[in-house]
Amino acid sequence: MTEDRWDAEFDVVIAGAGGAGLAAAIEAAEAGARTVVFEKQGKIWESSTAINVGMVAFAGTDVQERLGIDDSSELLYRDLVAVGGGKNIPSLVRTYADHQLDTYHWLTDMGVQWAEYATAAAGMSRPRGHFSDPLDMVRILKRQAERRGATVLFHCSVTGLVTDSDGQVIGIELRDRMNDTRVRAHGGVVLATGGFARSPERLAAIDRRFIGMAATTGVGHTGDALRMAEPLGAFFRDMEYVKPSYELHVTGDGATEICLVFYLGAIIVNRQGRRFVNESIPYKDIGMASIDQTDGVGFMVFDQPIFDRAVQNTRNASSAIPPENVVSGLDESRIRLLVKADTIEDLADRMHVPRQQLRESVDRYNGFVDAGTDPEFGRSHLSANIGVPVRIETPPFYAYEAKSHFLATYAGLAIDDGMRVLTQNGHIPGLYAAGEAIGGFHGASYHSGAAVGQALIFGRLAGRQAAQVR
Ligand SMILES: Cc1cc2nc3c(=O)[nH]c(=O)nc-3n(C[C@H](O)[C@H](O)[C@H](O)COP(=O)(O)OP(=O)(O)OC[C@H]3O[C@@H](n4cnc5c(N)ncnc54)[C@H](O)[C@@H]3O)c2cc1C
Repeated sequence: MTEDRWDAEFDVVIAGAGGAGLAAAIEAAEAGARTVVFEKQGKIWESSTAINVGMVAFAGTDVQERLGIDDSSELLYRDLVAVGGGKNIPSLVRTYADHQLDTYHWLTDMGVQWAEYATAAAGMSRPRGHFSDPLDMVRILKRQAERRGATVLFHCSVTGLVTDSDGQVIGIELRDRMNDTRVRAHGGVVLATGGFARSPERLAAIDRRFIGMAATTGVGHTGDALRMAEPLGAFFRDMEYVKPSYELHVTGDGATEICLVFYLGAIIVNRQGRRFVNESIPYKDIGMASIDQTDGVGFMVFDQPIFDRAVQNTRNASSAIPPENVVSGLDESRIRLLVKADTIEDLADRMHVPRQQLRESVDRYNGFVDAGTDPEFGRSHLSANIGVPVRIETPPFYAYEAKSHFLATYAGLAIDDGMRVLTQNGHIPGLYAAGEAIGGFHGASYHSGAAVGQALIFGRLAGRQAAQVR
């Protein structure tokens, strides 16, 4: 919509006060731009960045060095491309790899504290999942943005983009609790509104099996960036790779009920007591396999040594983050959700799966572990290409009944390395995007910790770019 009446004027206008939006605000304000962030929810703790489990993928950090982990930006780049099946845009992946270490230091210098611990999760050839308290992180980002002069306003929903007669984005339409207003952006507008896991229509258009699936994202993830930019000619990337993640307890609704104990050696079986997937692949891919199982359910099944390792993982990481955020471990909140028994047969009874079949599945899997090869599903590692599968044999035995859910969508606006929103013929002048609102970075699957990482890294770049064009 073209309009020349303005209720307020800034240089950089940012939609969304999550990781991407706040990172953009810090950089834009640092560059001297009059910067405002509009957030449609009421509180800083309602974004996905605030409620995520706190794992960020960085390579070559001091934490890794102290833990004796040899990692580099180049290895991270290769892992990101590999896990994305080569479908991700190489220059976007390169941008992440080139700026990740600097962003790690940037966060550390601003006061973000990292656990003295790094975990290996989906897609990692090295343990590079770094943990911090996510709520602390967003509070720090907000404080730093405000310290540099940015304004952060809540209960303000960006509802539309305003363009001039040349198609340049020059401002936004806004709805706050009282009014509809228009805000001029002399530099650029940054869309950092997250994904669309809470847009049933968009999910259903991708795959009818997604109808009715749980979403655990920030409640604002209704695909607003896509809705606003599409009429201006924006196109989307990675929509065909939108997948739910397998990991959420069937009674759960957030990060505290997410459990990744399969990456420590658990197998996953369905209601028939049968394995149905290679448990070492990214949880998004396990997610697609699990939605075709009876009731969409998969049980993680493991024994006492795996349980002990998971508890130890939580202890290691919880020096810096709350234990319930350690999804690669087990804490009280998850332990109370476990089913436990002294024999596999009794465990099967408690899981309500056929006891003979579960016994057979565990025995067959143990045989594969002994033989060093899994002809059924090809599991050769615990997670990605790390760790060696272990027998499940020492009682007591445990099961965690889980389903798939959307914790993110990881697809959306096509952007270039300058975070400019692209059309099929060029870009939309004045419009930038970062974080879960964009597509093309993750590709076909997902490397753990790279979503928050991307939101922060690309957010920073978007803020800088938008500030430059004043
Ligand atoms: C439970 C859970 C666990 C996760 N764990 C991890 C993890 O360990 N590591 C990892 O890398 N990723 C993880 N993710 C994914 C990751 O948190 C997100 O992809 C990332 O934080 C997205 O950042 P963002 O800035 O794009 O979105 P957000 O941080 O959600 O910020 C977007 C903001 O925009 C607001 N908004 C939306 N529309 C509008 C509008 N029209 N106007 C104004 N404001 C608007 C939203 O309310 C929201 O506050 C997890 C996600 C969840 C839900």
